[in-house]
Amino acid sequence: MSSSGTHVTTCVLDCPDGCALAVEVVDGRVARVGPAVAEGTEFICAKVAGFARRLYHEERILHPLRRSGVKGGGHFAVVSWDEALREIADRLLEVRETWGGEAILPYHYGGSNGKLTEELLDDLFFARLGASRLAKTICAVPATEVATGMYGKMPGVAFEDYPRAKCIVVWGANPRGSNIHLVPHLRAARERGAFVATVDPRDNFGPGEVDLHLPVLPGQDLPVALAMIDRWRQRGELDAAFLRASSHGLETLLERASDWTPERAAAVAGVPARDLVRLADRLVELSPAVVRCGWGLERNRNGAQAIAAVLAIPALLGKFGVRGGGYTLSNNGGSRFRREALLGPFDWQTRRLNMTQLGRLLDPTAGEPLSPPVKALFVYNANPVASTPGQARIERGLARDDLFTVVHEQVMTDTARWADFVLPATTFVEGTDLRVSYGDYVAGGIRPAIAPVGEARTNMQLFAALARRLGMLDPAFSWSDEELLRRAAAAVELGGGPAGAEVGRGGRQRYGFRGSPPVQFVNVRPQTPDGKVQLAPPVLGPEPYAWREPASRFPLALVTAASSRLINSTFGETSVDTLTVSVHPDDAARRGLVTGAAVKVANDLGEVHCRVRVSTKVRPGVAWMPKGAWKRSSLNGATSTALCPDDAQVVGDAACFNDARVEIELLSA
Ligand code: SF4
Repeated sequence: MSSSGTHVTTCVLDCPDGCALAVEVVDGRVARVGPAVAEGTEFICAKVAGFARRLYHEERILHPLRRSGVKGGGHFAVVSWDEALREIADRLLEVRETWGGEAILPYHYGGSNGKLTEELLDDLFFARLGASRLAKTICAVPATEVATGMYGKMPGVAFEDYPRAKCIVVWGANPRGSNIHLVPHLRAARERGAFVATVDPRDNFGPGEVDLHLPVLPGQDLPVALAMIDRWRQRGELDAAFLRASSHGLETLLERASDWTPERAAAVAGVPARDLVRLADRLVELSPAVVRCGWGLERNRNGAQAIAAVLAIPALLGKFGVRGGGYTLSNNGGSRFRREALLGPFDWQTRRLNMTQLGRLLDPTAGEPLSPPVKALFVYNANPVASTPGQARIERGLARDDLFTVVHEQVMTDTARWADFVLPATTFVEGTDLRVSYGDYVAGGIRPAIAPVGEARTNMQLFAALARRLGMLDPAFSWSDEELLRRAAAAVELGGGPAGAEVGRGGRQRYGFRGSPPVQFVNVRPQTPDGKVQLAPPVLGPEPYAWREPASRFPLALVTAASSRLINSTFGETSVDTLTVSVHPDDAARRGLVTGAAVKVANDLGEVHCRVRVSTKVRPGVAWMPKGAWKRSSLNGATSTALCPDDAQVVGDAACFNDARVEIELLSA
């Protein structure tokens, strides 16, 4: 670390693109963040290009803070790290002695996607405390469990191979908001004559950028995929030889698919049947064909079943075996992190609490009381008030006087305001980490470009310090962050081989599979027990591919999706000034809404007051809001999670954000 110069690092935020970043430092401060072109990144998103705004934001947490007023009032007094750690350690011990370790709940998610800052020393610390475990269910669980059940997390088609495809279907993903480096590959593919289709309730592309947009209603991707599958069966278009040799479960899938004609599925999904048929036929006719399956379609009660039907497509049509053919979901199956080689095995068998239902866990008015109740909540890498369903319940819980809440954060989030202690956290330009991308096949060691702002500490430093105070003797709690990086890099496998030493020194490594990009069923294969595709994996439950109709008295499906301004809730301190809900002109006209009007978006769970935007980008029947917006952006201090049910899916107990149904009316009415 020098006080001026350019520091090359890797972005650690929750995004599939593992960008190489050039961080320009002047007099010890970050002046600019841009792409590290020499490392292969030609452009980066505006969010990270503006990262200095977060670093030096007026609400950056600079020192440990102890609450000095009522809970949630946002009044804090500065204390020393020593005082804070002593009091926190004492309170955690007191809770454990009085209520048992399970009364302590760690709460964390994707604010950091680094191997050092998530599920490493934090897990070891809470395991040693005997704390409750957290079921991380707000994102990616159905997709991960289904992909693992079907293919054993086979690495997906590399994005740079997309221009080789003749047919690309982007299903439930918005590369304009997240995964922006896929967009030039889609453009290149089209320039070479490829057919590109998107399946999404919102049209995320400009005129002429894609060949077909199928604006499927939220929760209805499953019928669409099943109707295409049945059409292929009826027309003898399935790759029978491949399926015979390389799959199980075909009969179950085909039986379920036979319930769906294109006309029935199109009616349920609110799309023209002819477009559904066109997509089905293009997929048959064109090869290579690739499906970029995103996480949008998993966020409802039919989510896991829909993911399975979509991931079955390349197997059913025999699209594997060539570059640019197959599917991409998460590519983290291309790497392996042997945490036990780093920390040794440790036992953690306490109860597991569902993060999606944090409100139920904390809210004193919730029906069935927990035993033991959660008495200490430790939040890091997360902002549940903005990101987790059941906002009102969560805040009722955080307001409890008998709940001790610690938040380790970079800026004063909606959750941090409720804390008893707020501890200053480093960002990835101030700390050490190890990033293995879940999109690009790249890994990067991360070392500080600048000294920590204020008294910020990495969470490795935080948990190690607390562990030492509590007398935990694991050697890892005495390692420096640098040592941890070096040791962690040695426990990473990339493409089946060890990571290069440069990763442990803060460098980057692109990796392949025996020297070339992954080609599904050639140099990467299903990691299922017999190496075959499981088309009806047990994870789908007793009724694989069963469709459940959404039931609600409210007419509009609320989609809360990733946007180009936020990464989950990160950047909410600067990036969403005014919360808006977007609706189609037909829905707006019916309600007398015009762009800019103040509206109430409401259902039985709550109401959000915000501005409306009338847009043909959103299909009729849908209200679209950015996920992760902060309370300050809303006219009544409530955001989308106030409207989202905290129900859990059958698969993985996962969140169903997009099952929210709402009505919108003018506030003045
Ligand atoms: S958030 Fe994604 S696109 Fe933006 S810099 Fe990070 S990896 Fe790149």
